[in-house]
Amino acid sequence: MESKLLGRTRNPEEKLGIYKKAISAQAVSREGLAQDGGVATALLVFALESGMIDCAIVTDKDDEWRTVSRVVTTADEIRAAAGTKYTINNSVNSLAEALNMGFEKIGFVGTPCQIQGLRKVQLLEEPYQIGQEKIALLVGLFCMENFDYDLLMNGLVKGRFGLDPKNVARFEIKKGMFRVIDKQGKVDEVKLEETDQYNFKGCGPCFDFASELADISVGSVGSGDGWSTVLTRTDKGEKLYSDALAAGVLQEKAVSEKGLALAGKLAGNKAARFEAKSVEMNVKNISR
Ligand SMILES: Cc1cc2nc3c(=O)[nH]c(=O)nc-3n(C[C@H](O)[C@H](O)[C@H](O)COP(=O)(O)OP(=O)(O)OC[C@H]3O[C@@H](n4cnc5c(N)ncnc54)[C@H](O)[C@@H]3O)c2cc1C
Repeated sequence: MESKLLGRTRNPEEKLGIYKKAISAQAVSREGLAQDGGVATALLVFALESGMIDCAIVTDKDDEWRTVSRVVTTADEIRAAAGTKYTINNSVNSLAEALNMGFEKIGFVGTPCQIQGLRKVQLLEEPYQIGQEKIALLVGLFCMENFDYDLLMNGLVKGRFGLDPKNVARFEIKKGMFRVIDKQGKVDEVKLEETDQYNFKGCGPCFDFASELADISVGSVGSGDGWSTVLTRTDKGEKLYSDALAAGVLQEKAVSEKGLALAGKLAGNKAARFEAKSVEMNVKNISR
């Protein structure tokens, strides 16, 4: 897939996958809801308004932080879905919904696993005609792991912090801590390694931290508060980013070497975790 999409396979030292440009960026007008620099939202809004896409598949939430997939067609709807929900979502299924609704240039934002799934469908050489050519843009997020809704809410949010999910304003991962901020501004936090018990089990066999098959990847690590780390990968992703920059939708500054190295280290850790899991599973299979 990497060769088909990007013309070559990566070198072992390219821990974040193949990219053209790495930069810290920020949406010029950010809604309060954005998780970091608001770049994911700004790129989708710009893609919609410039005609690159005719709809976007986003992950919104209900009032108890359950993820809700939406096929949306307005900037306001894209903005309403800003912010990270740290629970798994099946928004890939919304591709079928978007196709059934007749959209022809579909934009999608999501986690590395979701991007992999959609890119795989798009690059299939099988003669299936399911509308894969209508996937017009894949905006990928960085992701170390995701959580199971019931485990996270019952175990941590309600169980340990005594919070009603309805009263949570924001979840974030910062400096090794998983933080829950309520609507009164109170912060409850726990070391990230103590959250393993709430992980979504399917995340175990995942090796992709930086959405390596996206047109453009956006993450938090590597950039300061209120900024996003952006990796442009395909010509399409590069053009979208530079057009948004030229239009004054985004502003940028250099990403520090230290920041990029940290992102690369996390990506390497995720790949190593995958290797370890694979060995563990093989050993189990052999001993069976
Ligand atoms: C589960 C998860 C884990 C992450 N882990 C890391 C990490 O370890 N390190 C790191 O640097 N960054 C991580 N990120 C990315 C980070 O939280 C931000 O999403 C990213 O920096 C973009 O910020 P932004 O302000 O540009 O996005 P915004 O403008 O706020 O837009 C965020 C977009 O993310 C989408 N989204 C929100 N939740 C989900 C979800 N559960 N599934 C799919 N799409 C979703 C929304 O549709 C929205 O369009 C993670 C994101 C997710 C969803």
